[in-house]
Amino acid sequence: MKTVEFHTCECSAKRAFTDERAAQKALGRAQAKRDRTADRRGQRRALERENRVYQCHFGMWHLTKQSRRSYEGYADYCAA
Ligand SMILES: [Zn+2]
Repeated sequence: MKTVEFHTCECSAKRAFTDERAAQKALGRAQAKRDRTADRRGQRRALERENRVYQCHFGMWHLTKQSRRSYEGYADYCAA
């Protein structure tokens, strides 16, 4: 598979993408990788993984992780 092209952005040193499609593609790859890891550990829901993309002030796209706090809130919501 072709490697997704990425750049650095002025807002941070993390990976940045020039358009939403590229960011979504990278997000899918990151999630698939983490899902395989989670399966080996018998944990379907990984605590930390990128789960969405957003566009920053500089017009670049980034991946972001759901925070620990929001994950726990989500888990509580599902258990209710
Ligand atoms: Zn940025």
